[in-house]
Amino acid sequence: MLIACFLFFSATLFSQNTAVVTSPDGNMKVTVQVEDGMPCYSVVFKGETMLENSPLGLVTNEGDFSTNMRFIDSSAGEIEKEYLQEKIKCSHVKYRANTLKCTFNNAEDKEISVVFQVSNNDIAFRYELPKWGNTMACVVTEEATGFRFPSNTQSFLSPMMRPMEGFARTSPSYESGYEADVPMSSNKSNEGYVFPGLFHIGNNGWVLLAETGVRGLYCASHLSKFNNGVYRVAYPNPGQNNGFGSTGAQTGLPGVTPWRTITVGETLKPIVETTIPWDVVEPLYEPSKNYEYGRGTWSWIIWQDASMNFADQIKYIDLAAALGFEFILIDAWWNSWVGYPKIEELIHYATNKGVGVFLWYNSNGSTNDAFQTPLNKMNTPIARKKEMKWHKEVGVKGLKVDFMAGDKQETMRLYESILSDANDYGLMVDFHGATLPRGWERMFPNFVGNEAVLASEMLVFSQDVRNKEAFYAALHPFIRNSVASMEFGGVVLNKYLNRGNENGQKRLTSDIFQLATGVLFQNPVQFFALTPNNLTDVPGFEIDFMRDIPTTWDETRFIDGYPGKYVILARRHAEKWYVAGINAEKEAKKITLNLPMIAGQRVLMYNDKKDGTSFTKTISVPEDGKVTVTIQPNGGVVLKR
Ligand code: CA
Repeated sequence: MLIACFLFFSATLFSQNTAVVTSPDGNMKVTVQVEDGMPCYSVVFKGETMLENSPLGLVTNEGDFSTNMRFIDSSAGEIEKEYLQEKIKCSHVKYRANTLKCTFNNAEDKEISVVFQVSNNDIAFRYELPKWGNTMACVVTEEATGFRFPSNTQSFLSPMMRPMEGFARTSPSYESGYEADVPMSSNKSNEGYVFPGLFHIGNNGWVLLAETGVRGLYCASHLSKFNNGVYRVAYPNPGQNNGFGSTGAQTGLPGVTPWRTITVGETLKPIVETTIPWDVVEPLYEPSKNYEYGRGTWSWIIWQDASMNFADQIKYIDLAAALGFEFILIDAWWNSWVGYPKIEELIHYATNKGVGVFLWYNSNGSTNDAFQTPLNKMNTPIARKKEMKWHKEVGVKGLKVDFMAGDKQETMRLYESILSDANDYGLMVDFHGATLPRGWERMFPNFVGNEAVLASEMLVFSQDVRNKEAFYAALHPFIRNSVASMEFGGVVLNKYLNRGNENGQKRLTSDIFQLATGVLFQNPVQFFALTPNNLTDVPGFEIDFMRDIPTTWDETRFIDGYPGKYVILARRHAEKWYVAGINAEKEAKKITLNLPMIAGQRVLMYNDKKDGTSFTKTISVPEDGKVTVTIQPNGGVVLKR
């Protein structure tokens, strides 16, 4: 369903060097002007400054559009649309915004425009480049766009990784954790920070920055280092992809940049509930079939490489079947250690049990030292389409493509090509070692999530990440997972994150914490870190909870929380509400929740005792919807109707 209308009419709101656009409810005001030849904008929300005068503009090989600019025209309009999207935090979205298009001339009299769309809590803006005379192509080398927050702002940012470092020189992959709730002056990363970035504007509210609508026609960008009070939109480090492929973007004219997005709230509610990454993009092609999402098992996460053999994969197919899960993910090395003929047998075995198969692929290639096989199957269209033809023949449902490191346009083209080819063969795709998806759930019908997070694998590998598990988990609903699906691979019920489950990498969070993350972390396909022994060694009600857990949501509501400390969300799947919370603080947290959606109903509560063991009981929610719960440190709570 799509109802869209564009209406542009001449603005009466501007005079000379200034134009103003407000949100439909009037709370947000964006002012655009040219100051000393520099285009800039500012954002005021409910009378408070959220962004001070911040730069706009582009630098291209056809001219500089960031200095010596003149404001020549502006026009205002409205846009309204409504769409269905089952792969994100809610399934039915209504979007309404006021628009403002400002056109500037540079010193050579070449034109460029910036278009703002301002809805009640979101701003999306992008540049439009016209055809300049006979010039029909240009390269955007730099972006002047910046964000100047008031000086009392605290930031929640994840540093951009340096190129060609880390495991097999596969960075950057958006896996560097967060510097949370710090003054901007302590943001020292020279590589800058990844999108999204969250900012707390003193007592005046919150701002979430991101970008959306990136495909093969542009590079992905990030925030620059904090310099002179400003974060700028920065293009990829030229060293990515072993130095091959340009930074910046090659575009045809007329052309557009991706959207830069600014979500603004007095509270965290609009930050958690925003749909702006999908509001301003459209599907790029029709799905070749009706893709169905769901839950899966995967042996690699806890049993690791050694489990890549026929017998262990049978155990994980049986586990998926026992749980009523839709999928199994067969991870790295399957082609070498199981082999194509036996994999076909496994796929057949799984299919007979009603379990669909996802197969892992290394995207490499030629870009880094990632050596796990299958290699050289996804990086060229000839190899890729041959492999995908086989997938279709044997009934593979989806692919996990790993080590996609880098944000260059070169890499965005590879993402787009893999997704588009996969759709031709009816395959879903999930990327790991990857960038942040930027509107892709809507743009690519067969896209089912990226990692782009310090995910469950790092719980297995790093004591520091295990120590901070609850802290990171309490950030994601506000930041990373608010703007895009997040394939975390979580819900670990082993006490130790290894095959023996007797000693070693001890889990520091409770079972109910883990179940709660199955609801808090949103991705249309979730591969959970359950192991075959969990069927018998954890309480039966926990397994029953997992048998029932949905991965798609019709509604998501922020209930309470503070990034990095605790979070409680309510999500609805069809008629069923799940209220899930976790606590990353040192003390037990007793909170009264306002839950009108389950007022007067009997619900199942899942919670931890003081000693960290779990229990469940039925409770009656009073008619006023107010429920008091206690969440233990590193613990969780779930209320389920
Ligand atoms: Ca990874």
